[in-house]
Amino acid sequence: MSSLTTNHRLLIDGQLRAATGGATFDNINPTTGQVAGTAPDATAADGEEALSAARRAFDETDWANDVALRVRVLRQLDDALRAHEQELTEITVTEVGAPLGSCATVQVHEPLAVVEWFANLAESYDWSTDLGVRDTMGGPARRWIEREPIGVVAAITPWNVPNHINIAKVVPALAAGCTVVLKPAPETPWTGLALGQLFAEHTDLPAGVLNVVTAADKKFGAFLTTDPRVDLISFTGSTETGRRIMAAAAENLTKVFLELGGKSVHLILEDVADMGLAAAFAAIGTGVVAGQGCALTTRVLIPQARYEEGVQQIAAMMSTITVGDPADAATVMGPLITAAQRDRVEGYVQGAVDQGATIVCGGKRPADLDSGFFYEPTLLAGVTNQMTAAQEEIFGPVLVAIPYADDDEAVAIANDSIYGLSGAIFSDDPAHALAVAKRIRTGTMSINGGVWYAPDVPFGGYKQSGLGREMGLAGFEEHLEIKSYSEPAS
Ligand code: ADP
Repeated sequence: MSSLTTNHRLLIDGQLRAATGGATFDNINPTTGQVAGTAPDATAADGEEALSAARRAFDETDWANDVALRVRVLRQLDDALRAHEQELTEITVTEVGAPLGSCATVQVHEPLAVVEWFANLAESYDWSTDLGVRDTMGGPARRWIEREPIGVVAAITPWNVPNHINIAKVVPALAAGCTVVLKPAPETPWTGLALGQLFAEHTDLPAGVLNVVTAADKKFGAFLTTDPRVDLISFTGSTETGRRIMAAAAENLTKVFLELGGKSVHLILEDVADMGLAAAFAAIGTGVVAGQGCALTTRVLIPQARYEEGVQQIAAMMSTITVGDPADAATVMGPLITAAQRDRVEGYVQGAVDQGATIVCGGKRPADLDSGFFYEPTLLAGVTNQMTAAQEEIFGPVLVAIPYADDDEAVAIANDSIYGLSGAIFSDDPAHALAVAKRIRTGTMSINGGVWYAPDVPFGGYKQSGLGREMGLAGFEEHLEIKSYSEPAS
């Protein structure tokens, strides 16, 4: 056994190993902009070996049928993750630039509960449903349904919350009886490799059931989207890449399960007397993972008559967000993931200004941080929903404030988006909040600051925010096929 933080290896067919030929690529620490270390740069042959191992493990072992083994393996993983939480945190701080506070919650700690929840679900799940006897056209028949794992899952994951998303893809798939090839993002290879290592070193996972391959080429996983040996493509990333993956999967009609982009609203209703709480949530939501989260609320809708008041309160809260070294416990917001991502964010802010928006706060790199990819939490006012910054996913700490006249207009603005992933609504009247929330076409909705993230809550989007739901019972059943049986009844 070796440290999770220093020895990063692929997991292929039960073996922790280097890429064929020993090639590696640099893992850049976004806080410093410097190389933190390397990860294996898998070859096409490594990818082929990983996929054929997953196929073989599904077709030729008892994994798909042995629920007790799966539950045992997941409980072993749960123990291993908890024992290694500190190292996972260290990795996440280093390669994601995630502040310690976010590691204690969504990045590392909260996802641990996902493992136990799915182990319990697999153990108690009704794999079979009796439909009883019926007089069919062939005479009386006893009919029943069995739920079976769909097969080999290609899990392709992004860099923003990698530990959570790797777990949220791999664990339900394994609990369901699938085998998996996990392809993490090249920006954050170590979290995925650590997950593979924990399975390999601390559980009874049979060889080939989980394979983890990392590569410098961001399109390395494309072979998984066209290969008929893959039964389900489970992808989280941008809507643009999701479209490409769905088009590739169409060739074999491979099932796709997509968690894509968002441009969610944070709606402050007119009846909110004190906007302080709503303003605080709006501001802090912008700083979480430096705004690089698909489910963050990035359009705040403020009643026209109180627009100035709302904008000023949010700006005041935003200015309290401490930006800096994620390893410092006082830091709320770390860097963006890459220089390219920061360039992209800067381009969106400049574009908004060119279209007539004003920068209320932020809109620049912090003067006191001269290394790494930092950008200040930014609030843009004077924004209309037609502006590019209100329509496109910026994936940075940028909030746009849009005024609205009444509930109908607020709902129309909220729904005037290609996305429908998440949302938040604030009201002094919960019934009013719920009535408006029901009209917004989105997959999750927080009322007055309620947190929906939990293992039993399905997460996913309407419209171009995706297909299917991750986590919860719905997320588990994405990995199952239904087989219907009948036999003559006497
Ligand atoms: P970003 O633009 O921030 O890199 P993406 O949505 O493109 O976000 O990436 C999410 C994941 O999808 C990453 O693991 C990336 O390497 C992978 N990826 C990107 N393009 C493709 C593709 N054409 N086929 C398969 N995987 C892809």
